[in-house]
Amino acid sequence: MITAKLYINGQWVEARSGKKREILNPFDASVIATAAEGDRDDTKAAIKAARHAFDHGGWPQTPASERARLIFKLADLIERDHEELARLESLDTGKTVEESRWDMNDIAGIFRYFAGLADKNGGEVIASPNPDSTSTVVREPVGVCGQISPWNYPLLQASWKMAPALAAGCTIIMKPSEITPLTTLKVTELAEEAGFPPGVVNTVLGPGPEVGAELAESDDVDLISFTGGIATGKTIMRAAAGNVKKVALELGGKNPNIIFDDADFDLAVDYALNGVFFHAGQICSAGARVMVQDGIHDRFVEALRKRMEKIVMGNGFDETTQMGPLISAEHLAKVEAYVDIAKKGKANLVMGGKRPDDPALQKGYFYMPTLFTKCKNDMRIVQEEVFGPVITVERFSTEEEVIERANDTIYGLSAGFWTRDSDRIERVSKALRFGTVWANDFNVYFVQAPWGGYKQSGLGRELGKIGLEEYTEVKHIYRNHATKAFNWFGV
Ligand code: NAD
Repeated sequence: MITAKLYINGQWVEARSGKKREILNPFDASVIATAAEGDRDDTKAAIKAARHAFDHGGWPQTPASERARLIFKLADLIERDHEELARLESLDTGKTVEESRWDMNDIAGIFRYFAGLADKNGGEVIASPNPDSTSTVVREPVGVCGQISPWNYPLLQASWKMAPALAAGCTIIMKPSEITPLTTLKVTELAEEAGFPPGVVNTVLGPGPEVGAELAESDDVDLISFTGGIATGKTIMRAAAGNVKKVALELGGKNPNIIFDDADFDLAVDYALNGVFFHAGQICSAGARVMVQDGIHDRFVEALRKRMEKIVMGNGFDETTQMGPLISAEHLAKVEAYVDIAKKGKANLVMGGKRPDDPALQKGYFYMPTLFTKCKNDMRIVQEEVFGPVITVERFSTEEEVIERANDTIYGLSAGFWTRDSDRIERVSKALRFGTVWANDFNVYFVQAPWGGYKQSGLGRELGKIGLEEYTEVKHIYRNHATKAFNWFGV
């Protein structure tokens, strides 16, 4: 049994209240860990430590190359413990170990990328109207950062925040999801081993309305970076208004995957499956909204159904498993509720729509791959984020029609489309109002490319150079070399 503590000011501590939470394995609901359950007081202590490390501890003044050295070292340690981390992530989330291994590869790369950028974040000299002056624009670390991550990609999402913040010279209080904290804690241990000074990295476990809310409200936090649902994001935005802290939000998505008649049919089917059923559809960029053109619609639905019937569900540690369980009983109930609403409406259930019958899967939070056709824009199952293994198929006739419908959503995270027509690729890429658009691919991320949402899918960007800039303030320094008297008010 794993026991997990809070990490505050370079010390591993129990929650001040003494409270604990059991962490469950979604495969069979068994208890895998007992974690200290922090609250506002623990969070205040972590904020104080991060504030001190930023204001008086010398972290922002540490040469960028030295910060980079520590982050590179952390990346090496993540690679050293790659398999342990991957197995821990699968234990905590239920996803297949192979998926977790991919995540860990990405994560080591994310720390490396931002370590590489740390000492290339110099300023620029700009033209000034006064020839006897020098005007410089520099980027400085924004300060103490509260970072709140979700349960679906626990360590990947945490690394998108930790790596750029540390590279920029900020100090951080990381708050992982209370139901999946284990890999974030392990990486906190690795940060300690790498040698980050006390107070620079703090990790506080606990419920969102306690730990997360304190981070969002505190006057001593300069930036709050949040990944999670839209409703929580809005609460955080309101809470952040108190001291006008910087806000970065990565929120939900309802992502269209558009298949035109001239698509490479087999590839489009393959990626329609990949787009949704990895991690049982619990992906912010899941292509759960499949839109298929008239000419291939029926054949496409049939091909999807045939492939979906063969998806192997099971324990993420079993090498033959292709899809694990949902994260929790609560989330399973949410997915079931959405499917029930759709069943009662005019959508046509082609397969799934229930829990699997397999006796081996009854203790866990499994849900069958589910396919609806005859879906329309105004259905809740089309417009809202189900975050489960559910595909809705909409039929369309023309390019203009599908673009209008795809854009008719409050979300704007990502979209993909399939066609062999290169002029159409240009047109559709520009017309879709989403932060990422994939042509003839789906769900491709890499650290060099910015990630984030249009509309209510978020605010700001993670990854890429802009991901580092989010953790900086811009300062203009104007130096006059030959100041002359102004004498407006006489001499
Ligand atoms: P959630 O909003 O329920 O929780 C996310 C985090 O916020 C958790 O750590 C939680 O404890 C904390 N939290 C909850 N209430 C809070 C409050 N009042 N104040 C501060 N913090 C609070 O989301 P979730 O269910 O963990 O994650 C799923 C959501 O995350 C989905 O909507 C998904 O699309 C989104 N997501 C988005 C991206 C992206 O890149 N845009 C990536 C992953 C997940």
